Amino acid sequence: MLPLFGYCSFLSFVLLFLCFFPRFCFPARITPGQVTVITIDDQNATWYNFTRFKDAEKGCHISGMSELKKYFQRFGYLSIPNNQNDNFTDVFDAQFESAVILYQQKFGLPVTGKLDSETISTIMSPRCGVSDTESTIHATKHFAYFYGRPRWDRGSSMTLTYAFSPTDMIDYISLPEIKTVFKRSFSRWASVIPVNFTEIDDYPSANIKIGFFKGDHGDGQPFDGVLGVLAHAFSPENGRFHLDEDETWAIDFEKVKSKTAIDLESVATHEIGHILGLAHSSIKEAVMYPSLKPRSKKVNLKLDDVEGVQALYGSNPNFKYSSLLAYENSYNKAINLNQRSCSWTFSIVVVVFFILFMIT
Ligand SMILES: [Zn+2]
Ligand SMILES: [Zn+2]
Repeated sequence: MLPLFGYCSFLSFVLLFLCFFPRFCFPARITPGQVTVITIDDQNATWYNFTRFKDAEKGCHISGMSELKKYFQRFGYLSIPNNQNDNFTDVFDAQFESAVILYQQKFGLPVTGKLDSETISTIMSPRCGVSDTESTIHATKHFAYFYGRPRWDRGSSMTLTYAFSPTDMIDYISLPEIKTVFKRSFSRWASVIPVNFTEIDDYPSANIKIGFFKGDHGDGQPFDGVLGVLAHAFSPENGRFHLDEDETWAIDFEKVKSKTAIDLESVATHEIGHILGLAHSSIKEAVMYPSLKPRSKKVNLKLDDVEGVQALYGSNPNFKYSSLLAYENSYNKAINLNQRSCSWTFSIVVVVFFILFMIT
């Protein structure tokens, strides 16, 4: 009996392990509230040293916290109090706690007022350089606009021209490949609103001017090297569209192995949203969400992006909500099916485990 007992116990142990195994089979990208842990070897990556502020809360005093406060100031969450001589202190005070809460609300994170791991991980994520609070603030999670709701105005069914800088480009991706990526990105927005985009050669006269720049490039918003800020674009009708030359831009992750590679098409699609007048959305799945992980893609417009841009320009006569909803439904259905099969596996394993337990 003993070997049988030992065998069954072992089997029970294996099954007990399997009981927990299905939890891992959910697609990682849709797990609500998932903590994104950024593990990048490149110590030069911007904001990497913010890890040391993890778990800080009100009352903490950590050397260097003023740098983190500058980050919050840069993206519109915090201003220097009058009594601090134009400098931030290293104290986690009530004002900073309010800024953290505002940040957590804007990014759709659990609102704890502390620098919990999910918050610190989001802070360290590479992101767009456009400030998060340069926009009209909505009480609910939603798309947003810049102050005054600026938009391009060229009459009905307008055409906007775009051009690439003749001097400020990258050379490790060919120009035709870059042009193909941007053409696809522009066409996604053009398919939902009555606006056409046409590439022209004459850079100075184009409505939208695209280029890659390094560090301080003369518009008061210097880039910061690897990761950190990836790109920025200006609200209508400015048209400047700048990408950080120091990033490892990629159009095919099969060919580019760098851990810090950034998908050009995802960033292009996001910045075109700014060019058109959209500010940052709090919906994590939306193209207009401010951050983007290295080696990830987010190129398809979501309902939130479409509703936002159509409220500014109206709908493209050929656009059908049903096609967008069908896409989102099929995506959600695939996830649900996956979850259902996982829970079935879980139930069967529990029953088998219970029977074996009764035998032993
Ligand atoms: Zn942005
Ligand atoms: Zn710039």
